[in-house]
Amino acid sequence: HEIRQPLASIVTNVDAASRWMGRPTPDLDEVKATLEQIHNSAYRARDLIGSIRAMVKRDERNRTALDLNDLVREVLALMEGELQRNRISVELDLDEHLPLTKGDRLQLQQVLTNLMTNAIEAMAEKKWPRILRIKSAAEEPNGVLISVADTGKGIDPKIADRIFNPLFTTKSNGMGLGLSICRSIIEGHDGRLWVSAGAEGGSVFQFVLPANVAS
Ligand code: ADP
Repeated sequence: HEIRQPLASIVTNVDAASRWMGRPTPDLDEVKATLEQIHNSAYRARDLIGSIRAMVKRDERNRTALDLNDLVREVLALMEGELQRNRISVELDLDEHLPLTKGDRLQLQQVLTNLMTNAIEAMAEKKWPRILRIKSAAEEPNGVLISVADTGKGIDPKIADRIFNPLFTTKSNGMGLGLSICRSIIEGHDGRLWVSAGAEGGSVFQFVLPANVAS
């Protein structure tokens, strides 16, 4: 919504400006005022994009040793209300001997939040069952794997290769930025993020990050 709003306002104002210009006697004061609004909206859109870029920036200073199991539990606690509202049950399968990883806590929290929000939205459109399954595991030789699986509507194979593209969305109020930001964050951590179809329908998003090697 935040980025659509200034873009929509630019479109409306461009139309308005060309109407003021197209009058038998063009009203240049109105044109000038409208151009100023376009200018402001364009800067607002630019600033928003700037803040999204800052969010995925590779800034080594914010990277610390992290226990992804803790992060999963934290994000689940934050989303508890949303999960209950949608009557989704959670199945956790966390490897208690999971190696630590190294990363930007807020960015990785954002990834988990995005994946879980998408899972909830996919299940909200379906009846039962509604199960969010989150798994962690050590990935040989030197990685940590997290899997977020849902029993939602699944992903049409026709669009599967586009869902990570920026601005690709199938939701009427979607922005299509969530997954592209998730992928940028994970790849910025030298990891990989991918999706596959769930065994009983739904989708499984998985990512692998390098384990934190003591240096
Ligand atoms: P948005 O959520 O704003 O649409 P995303 O980049 O997060 O943006 O997702 C892009 C698209 O990928 C969604 O519109 C949806 O079609 C599809 N998608 C993402 N996650 C899931 C999921 N868990 N189940 C089914 N489809 C999904």
